[in-house]
Amino acid sequence: MAVNETPMSTNDALKHRFQQVHDRIHQAEQACQRRGQVQLLAVSKTKPAALVRAAWQLGQRHFGENYLQEALGKIHELADLDDIYWHFIGPVQSNKTRDISSHFDWVHSVDRLKVAERLNDQRPDALGPLNICLQVNISDEATKSGISVRELPALVQTVVALPRLTLRGLMVIPAPEPDPARQRAPFRRLAETLKELNSTLDLSMDTLSMGMTDDLEAAVQEGATMVRIGTALFGARDYPKGNPS
Ligand SMILES: *Cc1c(COP(=O)(O)O)cnc(C)c1O
Repeated sequence: MAVNETPMSTNDALKHRFQQVHDRIHQAEQACQRRGQVQLLAVSKTKPAALVRAAWQLGQRHFGENYLQEALGKIHELADLDDIYWHFIGPVQSNKTRDISSHFDWVHSVDRLKVAERLNDQRPDALGPLNICLQVNISDEATKSGISVRELPALVQTVVALPRLTLRGLMVIPAPEPDPARQRAPFRRLAETLKELNSTLDLSMDTLSMGMTDDLEAAVQEGATMVRIGTALFGARDYPKGNPS
C-alpha cells in the first residue's frame, strides 16, 4: 500500500475537498428534510488511479468514469481494493458493452434498447445483475443524449424484463444553467417522471442520478438520491489533447 501513496499535501487537499462536498450535501439535505438520503458518486474521469486510491482511503467507495479504456486501467490497478464500486456514466457505444458489462457495477447512461440488451446478454453470470439508470433527455434538446420522456415507458418496460439488469432509476444531465432557481426545473421533471413510471407501471425504482458540481443543491432539493461530483472533489480535469469533454 505504501508504494502507491500520494504526497501528504495532495491527501490533505483531497480530504478538505471531500469534507466540503459532504458539507454541501448535508446542508442541502437538511434544508429539505432529506437527511441521509443522498449518496456521493465521485467522478474520477481523467484523474489517476493513485488519486482514486487516496479517495478510497478517505472512505469513498463509489466512483464514476466516462471513458472505457481509461477506466479499465484504473479498475485493474485498484483490483486489490475489495469494497469499491464502479459506475459507467459516459455515452455507451454498442461495441463497448462487453467490457462495460463485465467490469462495472452500475451504468447510468443507458438510452436505447440495443445497448440495454447487449449489457444484459454480456453480463457475466458470476457478477449478479448490473444496476441500470436510463438517461433521459428531459428538455428534448436535439444535441443532448438521452431518451425522450415520450419514449421512456416502452424502454422501461423492456429493461425491467431483462434478467441480468436491475433497473434502478433515471439519470439526467441538464443544459448548463447558472441561475440556481432555474436549475431546479429539469430535476423536478425527472423526479416527477420517476414517480409517475413507478406508479403507472407498478415499479419501485429508487434512484435519481442528478446533480453535479454546479447544481448539486438544486438536484438535492428536487429529490436526487445520487449526485455525481467531479470538479469539486478532484479539481479541474486534465484532458489530454484531443480527448472529448
Ligand atoms: C464529468 C461528469 C460529471 C461531474 O461533473 P462536475 O461538474 O465536474 O462535478 C457528472 N456526470 C457526468 C455524466 C459527467 O460526465
